[in-house]
Amino acid sequence: MASERFLSTVNKQITHEFFSAQLYVAMAAYFESENFPGFANFFKMQAEEERFHAMKFFHYVNEMDGRVEIEGLDKPDNNFSSALDVFEKALAHEIKVTSLIYNLMDIAVEEKDYKSISFLNWFIDEQVEEEATMKGLVVRLQGISENPAAMYMLDNELAKRKFQAE
Ligand code: MG
Repeated sequence: MASERFLSTVNKQITHEFFSAQLYVAMAAYFESENFPGFANFFKMQAEEERFHAMKFFHYVNEMDGRVEIEGLDKPDNNFSSALDVFEKALAHEIKVTSLIYNLMDIAVEEKDYKSISFLNWFIDEQVEEEATMKGLVVRLQGISENPAAMYMLDNELAKRKFQAE
């Protein structure tokens, strides 16, 4: 049985995941306004993924017979100066989320809560992927942000991203 302390920290994580979705929708809005529909699609799909993460935590609290309490969200950053700026901020955000997941894992380990450790392993793997994706795009954008043809091609590539709940 997961502890009260663990479940209340998971409850906060649900809010963090919904906040991530808000932030990524704000990033999508920036790209819509800059006429980069593919980049906008990338962040819309990313936002779907964050809502999926939030609901994964939601289901876990319920499985453990806890009670989810939904909180309000802060206003995300809406001011971006370039595509590179957006992806650097997205990477910084994912690094912060990783530290939040680590904190949850620290509690689970401290409490010898093996069910929760197993549950959290999925999120640790997921964060490796999230950081790698954002980092990869930061590096690519560093090389091409002054090249409109290459930006157009990357926009086309990111237009293909779809969301899969898994
Ligand atoms: Mg997430």
